[in-house]
Amino acid sequence: MLPSYEDICKDKKKYAKSYMKQYQNCDAVSGKQLAERYVKDNCFVVVNPSQYPLTTEEMDAVYDLPYERTYHPMYEKMGGVPSIEEVKFSLASCRGCFGGCNFCALTFHQGRTISSRSHESLLAEAELLTKLPDFKGYIHDVGGPTANFRHPSCHKQLKVGVCPNRECLGQNPCPNLEADHSDYIALLRKLRDVPGVKKVFVRSGIRFDYILQDPNGNDFLEELVKFHVSGQLKVAPEHVADHVLALMGKPKHEVYQRFKTRYEKMNQKNGMEQYLVPYFISSHPGCTLQDAIELAEYFRDTHCSPEQVQDFYPTPGTMSTCMFYTGLDPRNMQPIYIAKDPREKELQRALMQYRFPENASKVREALRKAGRTDLIGNGPKCLVKAEKKEVKAREDRKTSRTSNRKNGKGEHISKNSFGREKKDKWR
Ligand code: SF4
Repeated sequence: MLPSYEDICKDKKKYAKSYMKQYQNCDAVSGKQLAERYVKDNCFVVVNPSQYPLTTEEMDAVYDLPYERTYHPMYEKMGGVPSIEEVKFSLASCRGCFGGCNFCALTFHQGRTISSRSHESLLAEAELLTKLPDFKGYIHDVGGPTANFRHPSCHKQLKVGVCPNRECLGQNPCPNLEADHSDYIALLRKLRDVPGVKKVFVRSGIRFDYILQDPNGNDFLEELVKFHVSGQLKVAPEHVADHVLALMGKPKHEVYQRFKTRYEKMNQKNGMEQYLVPYFISSHPGCTLQDAIELAEYFRDTHCSPEQVQDFYPTPGTMSTCMFYTGLDPRNMQPIYIAKDPREKELQRALMQYRFPENASKVREALRKAGRTDLIGNGPKCLVKAEKKEVKAREDRKTSRTSNRKNGKGEHISKNSFGREKKDKWR
């Protein structure tokens, strides 16, 4: 039984507890039926246990249906849907995600247990794509919520369900996690060999920490780098401050750094010049202005200038949204800092693109607020130059001090706000 609707409206702690109970009962095997009482309306809302994840045969049957493979004709008069090509020539290989990113609602939509299509089903679809008149030889993606999850995170969950109180990956990967890319490698190799296919790309997100967990992860990384990256590999480290990453359900920053090094070495080894495009989020629950500055300093030190950045946006059903609303981590009920003030959110976002001239005044404001004026100026570590009037004021102060030192009077002559000269004691 969940707390009543009236109770969760009055008490954020009860809301957080209710959320956690729902989160822990999403699994098809272990999840229980839940009920929330509406006292005023004298009724209950009942949440039935989740459906079982589709088997491979069921997945194949769904994808075998005779789809139109294009947008609705109503869009024709608007000039069509430009991104259709990307979707039309992509293959969905799996459903579900055990990545556990707390800002993502996929755990609720599709569950943590992976269902995947058979190689035969995917190869048959690839062959069908090659017969389409506008196919140019490129399969744009072979993926799903997370491209490199092709099988459940462990065997145990198929009998007893996924663990309600433990993350499969996150900052402390579960010892039962079965990290293995061999099936995905085999699938990609077969797809590359389909007559008429020139290139097969992987554009869905990959979990880099899962690659590092796989004892043979380098084999997959090599295949990926050699054949499946189209110049840029998109990854989602999301932040650099470990306590923010823990709230996001993401691995520690050092894990991303390790992956980055491996990726760069692998490109070097194979004579490729391909880049990593990392995604980051500002203002996630737990992220302070100081953390946002730490992220900006990381961009400075790594010469990274993200073109696209994302400000945290509370999405229905996610753990991060529960944190945002309650100011609590529902897993342990500890209070967490929430950047709710729109101005602070703007400042955190501007810090991620501190190099953009239009963000300069916001960056200065953020640095002043956080007491980090050491990062304003012309020094090599500075994020932003001082404002012209600030520079002038500083120069005026310097000139005035020098001249007073020279005349030895120990007096500082300055102009007050009315333009009259006033004498201050030299300090
Ligand atoms: S045992 Fe580990 S890998 Fe398996 S479901 Fe639980 S947390 Fe995930």
